[in-house]
Amino acid sequence: MRISDLPRPVTASKADWLPGTTWLGFTPQGKGPNAESQCESTVQRQMEKGYVLERITQSFEEPNPGFENDPRIIQERIEHETLKDSLVAVHKLRHSMRPLEQIVGKDEFDRLQNMWSSDNERRRWAVAFPIVETYEIIDRPKAKDVFTKEVFRRIYQTQSATLRPLDDEARAAIAKLKIKRMDAPNAWIAIDDEIMMAELSNLSPRDQRQMERDLFGALEGETEERRGKIIKRATWLANRFAKERKRHGLLICDECKFDPSMRNDLVGVPARSCFDVHHKNPLAEGERYTTIDDFALLCPTCHRLEHLRLKLSKNNGLRKSSKHHQT
Ligand SMILES: [Zn+2]
Ligand SMILES: [Zn+2]
Repeated sequence: MRISDLPRPVTASKADWLPGTTWLGFTPQGKGPNAESQCESTVQRQMEKGYVLERITQSFEEPNPGFENDPRIIQERIEHETLKDSLVAVHKLRHSMRPLEQIVGKDEFDRLQNMWSSDNERRRWAVAFPIVETYEIIDRPKAKDVFTKEVFRRIYQTQSATLRPLDDEARAAIAKLKIKRMDAPNAWIAIDDEIMMAELSNLSPRDQRQMERDLFGALEGETEERRGKIIKRATWLANRFAKERKRHGLLICDECKFDPSMRNDLVGVPARSCFDVHHKNPLAEGERYTTIDDFALLCPTCHRLEHLRLKLSKNNGLRKSSKHHQT
């Protein structure tokens, strides 16, 4: 798979000393009471719901006095030396209300602040974004080999405590890089946050029943309680998906392109009510962080046909595999 195959564009880049595997952190600038929320909203805006390209910096910062010979620092320095200036990963980040201390654990939090916090505020990287989806960039090319000098300078040669926006030229330069999906062990944080939001929101029983049908058989191995939560979250996502499609004026069938706004006999009928939201990857629920990109908008006929097709291909698959066993 290549970067251009991702469902959303890579919108920004982050420069780090070492690859982040579970979270990326930003240090709020300024001392005001709103410093953290300002930092968070800047990062959100820079991401524009896209992916973040991670590049390893050229240099490695000096830790606070007393930590120069810490064995982990020595190890990290060696690792940094082999990776410096490389493009290592593409991440999807999702902010959580949980404080950094809760995300990384108290011991790791204390270690980070003792080593790197430059004042007594202990908020180095305090604005933490758990990584909810991640891809390793194969061969980890050097940024200077991928970008032209001018593009490189535009992205990286200014100080930034947040993200560095990518333009179309930068996106074209990375489009063909090969990537491989990796586990995102912190995806559960985002999933649990969203389950909570789903439980607080007003979901219609009809939407939930429909989602239950789409997820039927896909949630084996989950407890009854967890299954209920996953269905609620998927329904909540499906509603957000439909709202986004409406906002973009895209209430049309993804399969047959049926568009109720072109029909004189449907004037006054809310367009949304002409469609079902179909879950394209039910088996991914409970397995990975699913998003609105996992859904499709279908007219009732196409939805029904899609499920008949799925049933047919499942039966054919079973027949084939049983035949395989006989020979
Ligand atoms: Zn259709
Ligand atoms: Zn469906």
